[in-house]
Amino acid sequence: MRLDSFVGNRKIIDRLRTKLREGRFPHGLIFSGPEGVGKHTCALLVAKALNCRNSATSDDFCDDCPSCRKVDSGTHPDVVTISVEDDATQIKIAQIRHLLGLLELQPLEGRNKVFIIDPADSLNAEAANALLKGLEEPPENSFFILITVNVHELLLTVRSRCQVYHFTPLTLDEIRQHGITDELSVRWSQGSIGRARGLDIERLKGEREVVLDFLETVVGAKEEQFQDLLGASAELGRAKQEFESRMAILAVLIADLLYVKEATPHKFVNIDLRDRLEVLSKRISLDRLLKMADFLRFIESSLKTHVNRQMLTDVLAVTGNETTAALL
Ligand SMILES: [Zn+2]
Repeated sequence: MRLDSFVGNRKIIDRLRTKLREGRFPHGLIFSGPEGVGKHTCALLVAKALNCRNSATSDDFCDDCPSCRKVDSGTHPDVVTISVEDDATQIKIAQIRHLLGLLELQPLEGRNKVFIIDPADSLNAEAANALLKGLEEPPENSFFILITVNVHELLLTVRSRCQVYHFTPLTLDEIRQHGITDELSVRWSQGSIGRARGLDIERLKGEREVVLDFLETVVGAKEEQFQDLLGASAELGRAKQEFESRMAILAVLIADLLYVKEATPHKFVNIDLRDRLEVLSKRISLDRLLKMADFLRFIESSLKTHVNRQMLTDVLAVTGNETTAALL
């Protein structure tokens, strides 16, 4: 895999290649963006380019020399990844001190030392401050690549010493280029190849059925069927482990119903449920859908704190039902 064969985020690759060619490669880089779009892979490709022994140009690598192969197998002594250790929840200061020790030394085999810190938002304050020392006066042949889902999670002092590259989700076509052939997986990937590869589509379909049952009951219940409404809500709220993922599934189903209303079918995620969702869409008003989507965003933001799931699904059920919504 050469730099140009990296799928997605073309502008970032072009910008990195220009920097490599100009020979003034920045010593501190931040790769920020959603999980599973190739940030870590891209960091390894940069490490290859900075160390390849065979490439005819400075802005690429051969992918075949001992240096390139050692980066692939994770055994290159000058390409070091620092992440959260198994027994910990954060990157420890001892790991950064070890890194600063390596900074003093000449590269063992390659031309350059590359330190990849992933995820950089797991640096505790002490470790981040220690890292600053390395970022402030890096030796000529040392480079740092910090990886994070959100650059704003990093200390301002760290950010100010790095060039930030914002990675974006991949397009559906780019997900397909990665070899994902199941169309439902492509569409459920949300632009993340990591997510697409990790999806258990049969399990997802099962969970989706539960959520769609809820939605159909909510939309269809008449005034005298209030008990059915609360029953459906109880069913959904009972799920402890799956609650968060079910809310995420509901958000995607509601987005699909909105696509039906907007007549933008190419954005549809649940292509296998299209007929059923088209029927459902006719039975619920745009206003109800938007209110449910709003309330789902509220649920998402409150999931971090201790929440009463049952109460949330009750409000959700009442919000989605035309006859009971007036009660709110
Ligand atoms: Zn090479």
